[in-house]
Amino acid sequence: MSSILGFPRIGKNRELKKALENFWSGKCSQKELEDTAKELRKKHWEVQKNLDFVCVNDFSYYDNVLDLAYALNAKPKRFRNLNGIESYFAMARGNKNNVACEMTKWFNTNYHYVVPELSIDDEYKANVDSIKTQYNEAKALGYKPKISIIGLFSFFALSKIVDGDRKDIFKKLKSAYLDLIDEIAKLDSNVVVEFSEPIFAKGLNSDTFKDLKCIYDRDVIECIYNSIAKKGIKAIVSTFFEHSNEFSEILLKSDIYGIGLDFVYGKKNQEILESIAKSDKILYAGVIDGRNIWVANLEEKLQFLESISKILPKNRIVITSSCSLLHVPFSKDDEDKMDKEVLSWLSFAIEKIKELEVLDKAFRGDLDSNTKEFLQTNKDINTNRKNSTKTNNNTIRQRVEGYKITQREEPFEKRIKIQKQNFNLPILPTTTIGSFPQTSEIRALRQNLKKGLISKDTYNEGIKEYIKDCIRFQEEAGLDVLVHGEPERNDMVEYFGEQLEGFVFSKNAWVQSYGSRCVKPPIIYGDVKRKHPMTIEWITYAQSLSKKIVKGMLTGPVTILNWSFVRDDLARKEVCKQIALGIADEINDLQNANIKIIQVDEAAFKEGYPLRAENIKEYETWALDCFKISTAIAKSQTQIHTHMCYSDFNDIIKTIEALDADVISIETARSGNKLLKVFKQVGYKNEVGPGVYDIHSPRIPSIEEITAQIKSLLEVLPKEQLWINPDCGLKTRKWEEVRESLKNIVIAVKNIRENLA
Ligand code: GLN
Ligand code: ZN
Repeated sequence: MSSILGFPRIGKNRELKKALENFWSGKCSQKELEDTAKELRKKHWEVQKNLDFVCVNDFSYYDNVLDLAYALNAKPKRFRNLNGIESYFAMARGNKNNVACEMTKWFNTNYHYVVPELSIDDEYKANVDSIKTQYNEAKALGYKPKISIIGLFSFFALSKIVDGDRKDIFKKLKSAYLDLIDEIAKLDSNVVVEFSEPIFAKGLNSDTFKDLKCIYDRDVIECIYNSIAKKGIKAIVSTFFEHSNEFSEILLKSDIYGIGLDFVYGKKNQEILESIAKSDKILYAGVIDGRNIWVANLEEKLQFLESISKILPKNRIVITSSCSLLHVPFSKDDEDKMDKEVLSWLSFAIEKIKELEVLDKAFRGDLDSNTKEFLQTNKDINTNRKNSTKTNNNTIRQRVEGYKITQREEPFEKRIKIQKQNFNLPILPTTTIGSFPQTSEIRALRQNLKKGLISKDTYNEGIKEYIKDCIRFQEEAGLDVLVHGEPERNDMVEYFGEQLEGFVFSKNAWVQSYGSRCVKPPIIYGDVKRKHPMTIEWITYAQSLSKKIVKGMLTGPVTILNWSFVRDDLARKEVCKQIALGIADEINDLQNANIKIIQVDEAAFKEGYPLRAENIKEYETWALDCFKISTAIAKSQTQIHTHMCYSDFNDIIKTIEALDADVISIETARSGNKLLKVFKQVGYKNEVGPGVYDIHSPRIPSIEEITAQIKSLLEVLPKEQLWINPDCGLKTRKWEEVRESLKNIVIAVKNIRENLA
């Protein structure tokens, strides 16, 4: 018995992405989109045919949370006049008249869900059509379907209350949700339904539950799952990404059929095994990693399962993936360019299903020759990976081990004095976050080099041409600290990964980030080392063109880690330290090349925070250490900037302070000066560059607007402490917009400086 919690829906060659984008731009009809979807589902079920069930309703045109909102008719007011797929996509993407619902990270993954908006005057009503269609499709093809649906508690906790009392809204929502389950129950006798409740993995002490305590206490959870179980379905409740012991205890008391637990990211789930044994529940044991891409060690997995079977009989154990396979790429079939050895260590969705099948057979003692052969190969692969020189580089290990984490040579107060004296910048210095518009010429240039269509010299000339224009523009506009514009980078992590040992890049390993957008994360397979200087050539060239300071631009170690698939045979913090040393070497080379300001971007620092409050301290400690390993090498006269694109620092401000960057630029533009107040409250001493306009929109901010924004910043922090900049990189914008916006910033700042003087 084995199953998965969901399959990636985007398609082997991102067919869904293409169909969606064609539909949105009017190039294909709704019927054509639906046909593509149906075709994909069919293909994806075909590969699940040897599992106990095929997953139904894991498919989505955009996002599963949105699907449930739609199925419950939880539509924001501004879209209520729309119907059908039009309203669905309007909620996801906005339309001419109205903005989309917000989108946010799905727990600690890089997948984003659409945040439902709930209001007391909503008219919830169950619509089972889409689930029914998919269910019947699967049945017609001869498969045994299992319906995946987001659990009521997770759905409600992830929603945003727009208007009305939460308790009342929950009551209304619950009743529609139960109606939906009624409809599902009518599809068949004993329909198997898997309820995803990842919110339970956050634990009872999380802010989420402190907040929700008055709405759902233990009794409510038990009682609602009892009502669900009574409807004549086989209800399985799954949690993932962490252990969920406090809630598992409650669920075991209810009448559900089974409980799904993640034993990869929630090792502590083992503590609940005895209780499961005492109950009558089936355990869906998540042992194959659903969100990372390494070949499983089947021997170890088998041992683990055997140990469980000492507590719980084998016929009550179903082997599953730890979470939906949504977070891993489709298959490694087409990766013909990748290093063969590294490739043999990888396992994507298709390969993981095979692992589940074999593991299940082995667990049940059904050892035919194919299974034996697979197990042997698996063992060989794991041995090879363990002993390969690619995964163990002694020099790197020794360097990390012997490295003492240190502070900058002098405290901030002293450093800043030296820097101010040397740089002689005006008050409220203006700068940008790094990237300038990525033009089609620049993209073509990079692609042509990759395809071998142009020589390295031609490429270098093209990049230098861009840098020259970029510097010229910034000088004309009158910015104070310049950047080279990052034309050589397609992505802030990939660019560095490509120049670090220990990374590989796939051709086709796409995973869905949100809607039709996919990312292809770098893969860190081995010990990481900088192969050669990574940015010096471009930055020093840019600096040679101007008397003003050009800021060097690096991606920080924590962000490189958090946006990659990371090896699972070494602790994340060790991998991060290795990256950090590579960045430290780069900083050292930059300062020796007379680059006076260096920015170390940590856009994804916050993304790595653990789900459970009790694990946060540990993460913060090593993430902070890694930033320091990178930056402590900077001499006092070298100014270190960092950049983070969030609008909420409340929880992490102490850690931000401890980073001790001389300057931090942040994303405040959309929240006025609210965010900045946190910095004031804690007595933050270092300098801050709060974004003065939102670069995510094509709108050009007026001089008046920027002036007002700067004035409101000055109400919070003294002028000596402030920098003025946009709130993120400009690479997604057009030159026309950027030129005007930055000129307006400079004019606004000049006016303010005159007034202040
Ligand atoms: N330096 C990067 C840029 O300007 C930072 C991007 C980011 O924060 N996401 O594009
Ligand atoms: Zn940013």
